[in-house]
Amino acid sequence: MQNRKTYAVVGAGIAGLACAIHLAEAGHDITLFDKGRRPGGRIATRRARQEGAPEASFNHGAQFATARGQAFTALLTQLRAEHQAAPWKAAQKSTDAAWVGVPGMSALPQAMAARAEALGVKILCDRHVAFIHDTGTLRHLPAADAKPGQITDAGGVLTPAFDAVLLTTPAPQALSLFACRDHDFANRMADIMLAPCWAVMAVFAEPVEGPDTLRPQHNPLGWLARENSRPNNPNARDTWTLHASADWSRAHLDDSAEQVQAALMAEFSALMQTTATPVNLAAHRWRYALVERALGTPCLWDPIAGLGYASDGCLGPRVESAFDSGVALARAVLESLRPRSYSPIEAEIMRQATERGPDKSLCPSDIAQALAPDWRPLLPGVRDAAIALAAEGRIDILRKGKPIPPAETRGVIRLRIRTAG
Ligand SMILES: Cc1cc2nc3c(=O)[nH]c(=O)nc-3n(C[C@H](O)[C@H](O)[C@H](O)COP(=O)(O)OP(=O)(O)OC[C@H]3O[C@@H](n4cnc5c(N)ncnc54)[C@H](O)[C@@H]3O)c2cc1C
Repeated sequence: MQNRKTYAVVGAGIAGLACAIHLAEAGHDITLFDKGRRPGGRIATRRARQEGAPEASFNHGAQFATARGQAFTALLTQLRAEHQAAPWKAAQKSTDAAWVGVPGMSALPQAMAARAEALGVKILCDRHVAFIHDTGTLRHLPAADAKPGQITDAGGVLTPAFDAVLLTTPAPQALSLFACRDHDFANRMADIMLAPCWAVMAVFAEPVEGPDTLRPQHNPLGWLARENSRPNNPNARDTWTLHASADWSRAHLDDSAEQVQAALMAEFSALMQTTATPVNLAAHRWRYALVERALGTPCLWDPIAGLGYASDGCLGPRVESAFDSGVALARAVLESLRPRSYSPIEAEIMRQATERGPDKSLCPSDIAQALAPDWRPLLPGVRDAAIALAAEGRIDILRKGKPIPPAETRGVIRLRIRTAG
């Protein structure tokens, strides 16, 4: 393939997997890094083993996914045909079906990871990416314990170089990587807010009477679900996953697992009006669980700096939002590779901005004056063309000497060629 690029995708949750699959389908060379033991991120299934007791599995992250768009619906429909996804009636609240992985939620990312690998994506788990080393045209992801500037691994071998790095981790985790590049994305991503969530997993010897799912309001518990009511769930015993509300989780973020288990089980007993005591208990703290404030844009992509960002933090607190964001980033990357023919105004902006270089800016009137003696009527067109070029990362729009997001263009502006970094 001509113009084949190498991309590093950091984070093998739904956003990273969706992004990697789309780029690999277009013929690019993709390496997916994740610090976890397996792909999936906040979609996770874990097993509780207790001597002499049957094994139980819990879905302690995302409980289910809803599909409103065509692409995610198509994926779930295909996985259903392959017996890897199914609707879970007990969790359905509105007209949107609640989809789950079969036999557990992790079947969803596992199926996507298998699809990615079949397309040639290299998935490297247990790989914590600590920083991005930029040589100007290529990016390296050194080992987590490497010193800044060091781009060889422990054996002295040069770490692979990538044309671009696409981050798909929760915003606070991605921020440190952006911040080390001193990039404008860091400011934008600082607006994304995620709430924590404490999850408690309980196994009972006897079934607890009552509904299979509950969404209590104004309670320390925000969600309760009987795991063995999921389609094709293999648990032999009654097993429950409890999620604390965002407020409670935030207030008890640093409590011990034992304290959390005790507090949330007391709430469970009161809500279910049961005296049953669990035979096995565990807790998991999600420091970043559900998005409370999203960026409101599908992804961030700067083709010149070779940096991109996608996650649920871009569009909202749902599995499908993460999927859509990953696909949007892949599309933005592919779009920027297409040969671009400039309109006369765009061509003049690029010519003058390139000529002046990264240290000097120019005024929109410089462009208009170069194009026609009666130049004033051209100014709105120059502004529109500048916004389009800035959105593609080709130039910066400056207000009071500082780059501004293209969508916030107003008042007196100047233009400057964008360079990497
Ligand atoms: C408790 C809980 C309940 C939820 N319930 C629902 C629900 O019912 N329905 C719903 O639609 N959504 C739910 N969600 C939200 C849903 O799980 C997320 O929106 C979605 O999974 C986010 O996917 P993502 O790919 O954006 O991020 P993640 O799944 O977080 O993926 C990011 C990946 O990046 C990796 N990573 C982070 N830092 C690094 C690093 N430095 N180096 C390498 N790898 C790194 C992580 O290991 C992770 O695998 C829930 C989430 C939680 C936690």
